[in-house]
Amino acid sequence: MSDEAGSSARKETVTYEHWCKHPGCKKWGSLGFASGKEDPQWFCAEHQPEWKLNA
Ligand SMILES: [Zn+2]
Repeated sequence: MSDEAGSSARKETVTYEHWCKHPGCKKWGSLGFASGKEDPQWFCAEHQPEWKLNA
């Protein structure tokens, strides 16, 4: 594979942006909740799902 030009652009930064999953919420999802094998769902402190507090 010779894609030297795109090699640098392919690097993924550590700063993965994740925002609150709550519809309409534009806050930063500082709290991540993973349910089983699903990808983590991110919520702000205001919209964090209660169903995870007992886990
Ligand atoms: Zn929120």
